[in-house]
Amino acid sequence: MVTLADLQVTRLGECTVASPLASYVGGRATNQYYVGEDDRILFDDTVELVRARGLSLDEMPSFETGGPRADIFFDPATTRVGIVTCGGLCPGLNDVIRALVLELHEHYGVNDVTGFRNGYAGLVPELGLTPIQLTPEFVQTIHERGGTVLGTSRGAQDVEVIVDTLQRRRIDILFVIGGDGSMRGAHRIAQEALRRDAGIAVVGVPKTIDNDIPHIGQSFGFQTAYSRAAQSIKAAKIEAEAAINGVGLVKVMGRHAGFIACYSAIANHDADFVLIPEVPFSLDGENGLLAHVRRTIAAQGHAVIVVAEGAGQEHLPDADDHDASGNKRLADIGRLLRERIGDDFAARGEEALFRYFDPGYFIRSVPADPADSVYCARLAQTAVHAGMAGRTDLVVGRRRHRFVHVPIAYVTHRTHGVSPDGDLWLSVLESTSQPLDMV
Ligand code: ATP
Ligand code: MG
Repeated sequence: MVTLADLQVTRLGECTVASPLASYVGGRATNQYYVGEDDRILFDDTVELVRARGLSLDEMPSFETGGPRADIFFDPATTRVGIVTCGGLCPGLNDVIRALVLELHEHYGVNDVTGFRNGYAGLVPELGLTPIQLTPEFVQTIHERGGTVLGTSRGAQDVEVIVDTLQRRRIDILFVIGGDGSMRGAHRIAQEALRRDAGIAVVGVPKTIDNDIPHIGQSFGFQTAYSRAAQSIKAAKIEAEAAINGVGLVKVMGRHAGFIACYSAIANHDADFVLIPEVPFSLDGENGLLAHVRRTIAAQGHAVIVVAEGAGQEHLPDADDHDASGNKRLADIGRLLRERIGDDFAARGEEALFRYFDPGYFIRSVPADPADSVYCARLAQTAVHAGMAGRTDLVVGRRRHRFVHVPIAYVTHRTHGVSPDGDLWLSVLESTSQPLDMV
């Protein structure tokens, strides 16, 4: 059970420098934009949950609110900043880089911003990836393109070497934009910097196209991703409808969490079946997927299946294959479904006509849509405020429409997934012809 202590964010020290934001938010007397110490966001969101804790308000688990502080830790005149992007691509990475640089430059007057290239590899000098200077001119139009101008990488790097690099370059704040693995790395960097009393703040902007990091609200890029996935599902529907025994099969991202599959399926009500890692299904038997697909095609002439890449892994051999960061490579569920449904029709002397879509890399590499761009910009601004106020070992997120600080350790202790008992999965069932269970 979460406690207030779990949500306490580490501070490098007292904030004794007057924030330069005063000059454009109307002076320190007005104060309306500054975040106060007591302005905390409750962890629980229902009266029932609050009551069940039996705690006083001051003991209640709550998040530190993000936003500008009247007094900050770092002196902007001498502050040096580093930015790194790690892990897989996701819409909005360049928006975050851009907004970090612009916020630092225009509002805090911090001009020394280094972009480390290709993930944590860029902080390891012997790998020879020369960092770049990030200026407002450099970042001006980068958000118009997908990907990351800094590049990315996977694979383990030595945390001590990384902190050596930060100290040698006299970096005060490191912003890490990356996924769960990157955040585990950021936590270790923050802890090593604290151990050395190096005075370095490490602030994460969590990136997960799958939306599988807990406690941060929705992740940036997720909305763009499911909007694009919905376009593929639309195409699959049109193709399947036009064919005899047409099967539109769309494999979307979602290694552990089926959020993209669920949202993209609900968007247009084009899917008949949604398969996600959190909800097991049978292939065979009267209540298995194959029988349901057969019945759907008999009734309406075609079927559309949306499958998250991590769904149905129990039906596939365990390949015991891992990427450079140690993440397990998944077996191809799309291919298996195609084979099994095809065989099922063939066994009855019929033929199913497949339209197979795998839009994964296309989705990852597009620029963020305007809503995500706004979100990226605001997350980045929150991250800058946190770093300048000397907060470390945290990520920024958004809970109940408020930006918050969450300790990194608290977002990496588990993954976030679709609850089979929750209202999102119910909406999927309401938007498809899928039965409550297929086991
Ligand atoms: P995504 O899953 O969205 O692709 P990710 O950040 O999880 O993003 P990874 O390749 O798993 O991607 O990790 C990115 C970087 O973080 C890699 O350089 C990896 O070595 C490092 N990393 C991962 N886990 C840890 C860990 N436990 N401690 C230190 N570094 C880690
Ligand atoms: Mg990961």
